[in-house]
Amino acid sequence: MSGIDNLPPLRAVIATHGLAAKKSLGQNFLLDLNLTAKIARLAGDLRHADVLEIGPGPGGLTRGLLAEGARKVLAIEKDPRCLPALAEIAARYPGRLQVIGGDALTVNPLAHLTPPIKIAANLPYNVGTELLVRWLTPPDWPPFWDSLTLMFQKEVADRITARPGSKAYGRLALLAQWRSDPRIVLELPPEAFSPPPKVHSAVVHLTALPAPRFPADPATLNRVVGTAFNQRRKMLRSALKSLHPAIEDILTSAGVSPTERAEQVGLEAFCALARALDAA
Ligand code: SAM
Repeated sequence: MSGIDNLPPLRAVIATHGLAAKKSLGQNFLLDLNLTAKIARLAGDLRHADVLEIGPGPGGLTRGLLAEGARKVLAIEKDPRCLPALAEIAARYPGRLQVIGGDALTVNPLAHLTPPIKIAANLPYNVGTELLVRWLTPPDWPPFWDSLTLMFQKEVADRITARPGSKAYGRLALLAQWRSDPRIVLELPPEAFSPPPKVHSAVVHLTALPAPRFPADPATLNRVVGTAFNQRRKMLRSALKSLHPAIEDILTSAGVSPTERAEQVGLEAFCALARALDAA
């Protein structure tokens, strides 16, 4: 039995339920319950929050979240083989764990959650970035979640937290940093997982800001940033020329040098440029 909840250790759970990891589902499991409890603590005070977990698998992080006091965990898991193992955890924590068997890209969890809501997940690599982009681009802001605590490949974590001038800087950094405060809070070597992935991983904690850091229309900002980074090594006046015939004047009026390259331009300048384009 494990010290945190008197349930069997995760290796035994995996053996009992025949949960050999499937590469197609991005399955790299965390088996150390002290580590999953630590990740749960990085999500903040869970006692008054509902937690949405994507991809609970055999339930390592789920058990961490519940042991750390989450008011409720709603877990969405695509692999039906994991559901009996998750039912055992639900029985240990009556009324606090709800499991939905299905694809997180199509299931809408909102009807089952009460604010404040936190999202915590060791994300399947194949859908992680897509889910993050969706959570960062809801129709209205603030979003339904207060914070995201997410495991990514280290390279993706670097792209989320990158600053201008670095190789990792691009659309994902601007999207994340415009309306949230992303930080890498834990780095993990491949051996922390079973089976070990090829690359290092990192947990990123993102807190939703009450309002965007700088005003801009979301669709215009997205278009400007997407177009600029499509040709990141070109000067902005040529990378952005498809956006407006007078792009050079618009760049100058926004205080951005037309000869700058996208990777040197900060968030505030991109927002000024989006506003100037909308006003042109
Ligand atoms: N949370 C567990 C842990 O930390 O050990 C498992 C993490 S594993 C990296 C990713 C999990 O996401 C797997 O259990 C996999 O079956 C599940 N998964 C993959 N694609 C999914 C999807 N589209 N929707 C929901 N779950 C998915």
